[in-house]
Amino acid sequence: MKFLQQKIGQIDGKSYKAYKSLQGTFYFPKFNLHIDYVQGDPFASPSKIRLVIPNKYQSIDQAWLETTRRQTYIEDHIARRVQKAIFKENTQVRGSGKSGMVAIDGPDQAILKRSAVQLNNREVTICISVGLPANGRRINGKEAEKLFFKVIPSILKHSLFALKQDDLTNAMQLADQHDVIRKKMKEEDWVAFIANGSILPRKSGVSTKPLENAVPFQSPKENEVTISIPHRDEPLTGMAIKKGITLIVGGGFHGKSTLLEALEKGVYEHIAGDGREYVLTDPNAVKVRAEDGRSISKVNISPFINDLPNGSDTKTFTTENASGSTSQAANVMEALEAGATSLLIDEDTSATNFMIRDERMQQLVAKDKEPITPFVQKVKQLRDELDVSTILVMGGSGDYFDIADQVIMMDRYFPVNVTDSARKIADENPVKWPDASSSFGSWTDRVVVTDSIKIKLGKKAKVQAKNRHSVMIGRDVIDLSLVEQIVDDSQTRMIANMLKYMAMHAPFKEDQTLVEWLNHFEKEIHRKGLSFTQKSKEQHPGDLAMPRRFEIAAAINRLRQIKIN
Ligand code: ADP
Ligand code: MG
Repeated sequence: MKFLQQKIGQIDGKSYKAYKSLQGTFYFPKFNLHIDYVQGDPFASPSKIRLVIPNKYQSIDQAWLETTRRQTYIEDHIARRVQKAIFKENTQVRGSGKSGMVAIDGPDQAILKRSAVQLNNREVTICISVGLPANGRRINGKEAEKLFFKVIPSILKHSLFALKQDDLTNAMQLADQHDVIRKKMKEEDWVAFIANGSILPRKSGVSTKPLENAVPFQSPKENEVTISIPHRDEPLTGMAIKKGITLIVGGGFHGKSTLLEALEKGVYEHIAGDGREYVLTDPNAVKVRAEDGRSISKVNISPFINDLPNGSDTKTFTTENASGSTSQAANVMEALEAGATSLLIDEDTSATNFMIRDERMQQLVAKDKEPITPFVQKVKQLRDELDVSTILVMGGSGDYFDIADQVIMMDRYFPVNVTDSARKIADENPVKWPDASSSFGSWTDRVVVTDSIKIKLGKKAKVQAKNRHSVMIGRDVIDLSLVEQIVDDSQTRMIANMLKYMAMHAPFKEDQTLVEWLNHFEKEIHRKGLSFTQKSKEQHPGDLAMPRRFEIAAAINRLRQIKIN
């Protein structure tokens, strides 16, 4: 501590570069400070530091580490507390550029495994970034002292050293409950569970907070199930959606898309008070939509599209600029390749010709002039041959009535089970389907030529997440704006790290497939944590969060001109 004070004294008033001499470890009375990276000037991206608090100063309860989920939820809770404390302290230190700013990569509504706070039975590590104070481009030692000796200790005092047992207990209990619900869902073959009383709509298109005064969710009697969960007197009651084909119908503005969006996000768990804390979906559920203009590399879309007028081979379909239907077909096939077990589809974001083809159109345009076999003729095979479930919003056509296992109608935000009426209508007005192959067909396991990523990187080997929905790779940008199940910028940063890792590491076997890469990533994260792509342990890993394999694959799949064998 004295040592740091001395060092700051020595560089006070000097040019900003002299801050580099602070890189290293300093011991404070209740924590160790690691200065991992020092910014080049006061306007550059901030310096990165780690606060490591040994067990003797903040005792680590073994209960926190009892399950992986508990550990993640406690880490999440601590990150939220630090974020709050920073918010209160943030105005104390001043100067040019980013002088005095303090930030943690805090979570939003979802509880993700992230690197900002890390627990083990010896210590708590908190990663934050700080702007080292300056006047113009000269070091301001007095403010730097304030930052390290007042602001940071005060942040810890009001967060990590002020944890409340009740909050910790609640976090652990929610973790245990989620474990039980997820286990039950597996046992019962439910692809989704939505507790009664859940609040599904969000405050606005840009806010992930719950909408105030929303109509709480209430399951139809036919779908209602009860689950006994720990740490709660009353069992949890709500709607279960079984494996199979589920159709969501209803008039416009009655809440169909809102329900589907909640299911999309239910692959993650959410904090108490979010409204979706008991809304859980098959973790391998993938939202599939049309995405005109995306690039596609050697995807086998032949189950849906054949005999294109330009003669393109749809078993290894490649394009720089996909249409609505080809992009949606590719999105389905890529999801299956990566291991999706449920597909989520909304008419609002689908290509009509991919979803349906009505009788009149069949009469006008002969089958041999239509390359597309619509999804409606494949959804049953997906269920029966591949055990892949579909939840589909479709208010504009009754073509799916015949094949849906259940039909849910949204009526003023209340779901009603209308399966019987839909069946009856389907029986009374049969649809004549055009001939189509009786089996689904198959996807192709593709090999990624990692050299083609390396070439993209160029000499500087720069891969960087620009924001949640774009990754810069060399001079190119991967557009992830329509990959809707990325919920955190830190997931995108992790995806960028993995792309770079792919380029830098030779595949561990020849013909390493995309799926083998995804498996490798998951194994490495499990073994070494989110920082596994980093060369040095000393590097600050503090702004990463866990993405799913589907979103990692989505980034690789959208890399333009990637070579795939
Ligand atoms: P649909 O897809 O059926 O046309 P949306 O899901 O887009 O309908 O919902 C229409 C509007 O209703 C949205 O503005 C949404 O925020 C709102 N909404 C949805 N569910 C609820 C609810 N449970 N309570 C209050 N408002 C809701
Ligand atoms: Mg809608």
